[in-house]
Amino acid sequence: IDNSLTHRHAARSVTAMAAMLAHEVKNPLSGIRGAAQLLEENASEQDRELTRLICDEADRIVALVNRMEVFSDKRPLERAPVNIHTVLEHVRKIAQNGFARHIRFIERYDPSLPPVHGNRDQLVQIFLNLIKNAAEAVPEVGGEITLSTSYQHGVRMAVPGGDTRLHLPLLVSVQDNGDGIPEDLRSNLFDPFVTTKVNGTGLGLALVAKLIGDHGGTIEFDSQPRRTVFKVSLPMFDEALSPTDDSPGYSDPAGI
Ligand code: ADP
Ligand code: MG
Repeated sequence: IDNSLTHRHAARSVTAMAAMLAHEVKNPLSGIRGAAQLLEENASEQDRELTRLICDEADRIVALVNRMEVFSDKRPLERAPVNIHTVLEHVRKIAQNGFARHIRFIERYDPSLPPVHGNRDQLVQIFLNLIKNAAEAVPEVGGEITLSTSYQHGVRMAVPGGDTRLHLPLLVSVQDNGDGIPEDLRSNLFDPFVTTKVNGTGLGLALVAKLIGDHGGTIEFDSQPRRTVFKVSLPMFDEALSPTDDSPGYSDPAGI
């Protein structure tokens, strides 16, 4: 299933909405929080519990808004060659020391993979979100998450000037053995606020789609019971595509 068009569209409308919301919500919220804090100083023990509650809940909204603000970040992406295996190892360690202690990780990496042309922090965010969802989907006992990397060989991409050039996007998959993605979610999975979780925000995959779009990559998923996989393709770091390299020379390693 090709979800790339819908998620790009979703990411754009999210951007506009997040920018507006973040701007409009933060000021009145800090007013509410400040007022509650003032009340707390002279409050009785019983009222203090309520003012605490107001502050805590206000903080939760601020945290949510801050997360949404990432969507409206229009700064150009700072990119460099990034070793995707280092990113995946880092994220796996975070997961296994925290929310995924009980889950078995299987790693199928192609060690000859060239670096990704990307932003390390954002790549960490992307895979942390995908692995968190996988961890939340797998059964309590026997949960498994498979991380794999490979080449997508021989994809010809159009470049400005009507030329084509061989592009070798890197494929990174996150697979889990959970129950699968509910049927009615599949058409708008990457939209914001789509969630089936009691404490879910529904912002994880919207953020993932946005960050991958910024990288010029794609994401798609395939889901059935016991096997749900999110496939992320990312551009590789290619000297020939880097703006600092002015030589037109380009070699076609696969000879296609
Ligand atoms: P959240 O995790 O806060 O609910 P996300 O955007 O990360 O928001 O995910 C949206 C929804 O997509 C989840 O609530 C869940 O229903 C579904 N989902 C995402 N990943 C998986 C997965 N690996 N297996 C099953 N369902 C998933
Ligand atoms: Mg999530």
